[in-house]
Amino acid sequence: MPEGLAELRARISEDLEILAYPTPDWVSPRAAPNGSIALDCAIIGGGQYGLTLAAGLRRERVGRIAVFDAAPQGLEGPWRSFARMAMLRTPKTLTGTELGIPSLSFRAWWEAQHGRAGWEAMFRIPRTAWMDYLDWLRATLDLPVRNRWALIALEPVEGGALLRLRFATPEGEQTIHAATCILATGAAGSGGYAIPAEVAERVPAERLVHANDSFDVARFAGQRIAVLGAGASGFDTAAAALRAGARAAAVCFRRASLPGANPRRWMENAGFLAQYVALPDARKWGYMRHLLSIGQGPPKPTYDDAIALPGFSLHAKLAMDSLTCANGTISLRCGDQTLQADALVVATGLRVNLADRPELAAVAAHAALWEDRFQPAPGQESAALGRFPYLDQHGAFTERHPGTAPWLDRVLTITRGAVLSLGPVSASNSGMKYTAPRLIEGVKRRLLLDQEEQDWAAFLGQDHAELPIPTAEPIR
Ligand SMILES: Cc1cc2nc3c(=O)[nH]c(=O)nc-3n(C[C@H](O)[C@H](O)[C@H](O)COP(=O)(O)OP(=O)(O)OC[C@H]3O[C@@H](n4cnc5c(N)ncnc54)[C@H](O)[C@@H]3O)c2cc1C
Repeated sequence: MPEGLAELRARISEDLEILAYPTPDWVSPRAAPNGSIALDCAIIGGGQYGLTLAAGLRRERVGRIAVFDAAPQGLEGPWRSFARMAMLRTPKTLTGTELGIPSLSFRAWWEAQHGRAGWEAMFRIPRTAWMDYLDWLRATLDLPVRNRWALIALEPVEGGALLRLRFATPEGEQTIHAATCILATGAAGSGGYAIPAEVAERVPAERLVHANDSFDVARFAGQRIAVLGAGASGFDTAAAALRAGARAAAVCFRRASLPGANPRRWMENAGFLAQYVALPDARKWGYMRHLLSIGQGPPKPTYDDAIALPGFSLHAKLAMDSLTCANGTISLRCGDQTLQADALVVATGLRVNLADRPELAAVAAHAALWEDRFQPAPGQESAALGRFPYLDQHGAFTERHPGTAPWLDRVLTITRGAVLSLGPVSASNSGMKYTAPRLIEGVKRRLLLDQEEQDWAAFLGQDHAELPIPTAEPIR
């Protein structure tokens, strides 16, 4: 019998109380240049990471926090916008968002409504249920999220002692000051995605979309589509289009065969997930370069689902220079086969390049990248990996030239760009259990160092009396 969400809420209150130690607030308020009190931490991005980090910081008694998200409420992250799979790609047993408190877990939320049998019966978490759970987490913990606040600039002020964040909001531009900032802006947060110029030049815009854009797949009803890229998103878009009435969906990729291996599952062990950060740079580079070189196909359930759909086809050896469009028909060659389509979906993934994010201009001007810090062995070069930011063990940016921007340790990130420094799956659900606490400690570290002198004076200035003051008479 499900316990129901009301009972679960009561269990959460009790759990939070049991685990409340240590309870005192400890972060001293800091005045901002505009007379306001600065936030202890501004979290940019109200997706699963932003919410988890907010909840975690609050539990650590970092109280002046706020989460800002450019999207309207309910549309944070990919789950209700451009994600098109029926269920999450990762096992349902993953933990992280609950920060070690069972009653806050997805499983507890699910079982409260569907019972233990409902949990056992589920194979993987339904995509929309995952977002429903995140909504519930936000509401239950009353997390301070401001929607439709898009970060447009982040700069140091007061000699780097604080950050000034500027936002575009429905009420016009707003400024917030904060001692620290976490960029939890998602997979595209340290770069982005784009339709390659060679494709945009050859296919008219009305026949071309990117899989990471929000669009209704019903637009493909009755059409033949070609999808460039055989990763999970390419498969998801092809399957969703077929279900929405597309006549055919051809998934095309450059390699000679579909990558069948998924070593990321091997990485999901408590040693690797937690201590990847301790590995030497050359080893981190080796892991990531290997993953990039072998590519990543779709998860098996996604693959099985797609290939069973009438109209689905898969094509290796795509020759990009064969792509043309004439009289409304797109044509492209894969191996010795020529395919024709009415519309083209680009699903070639994301790139990391801080320079692509205007709001990070001040960070990009000073932050060290891997190409600044690491020289790969001959044959191990990768221009793409070289552009990843070189982060410290807490996910904070580091200076390209020491002494020029010490404020960078106030800015932490958990986006695609963080994965070379923090771990290949650190930005996904799979790594959150270990990565979220790491970032939280990074924020606390900076805040404690900021008030080091003040704390020392307060420590010496108090008598810390515990016992009654001894009298002149000896105690017998
Ligand atoms: C289609 C898809 C499916 C995935 N499926 C899985 C899966 O099954 N399992 C798994 O482990 N991982 C999966 N991932 C990877 C990862 O778990 C997700 O990307 C997840 O959404 C990351 O959470 P996040 O909170 O870091 O970022 P997001 O959920 O993307 O949230 C980032 C938020 O930042 C906001 N934002 C961005 N820029 C700004 C700005 N300038 N100002 C204010 N707000 C901003 C966005 O509006 C967004 O709401 C998937 C990723 C994608 C894209």
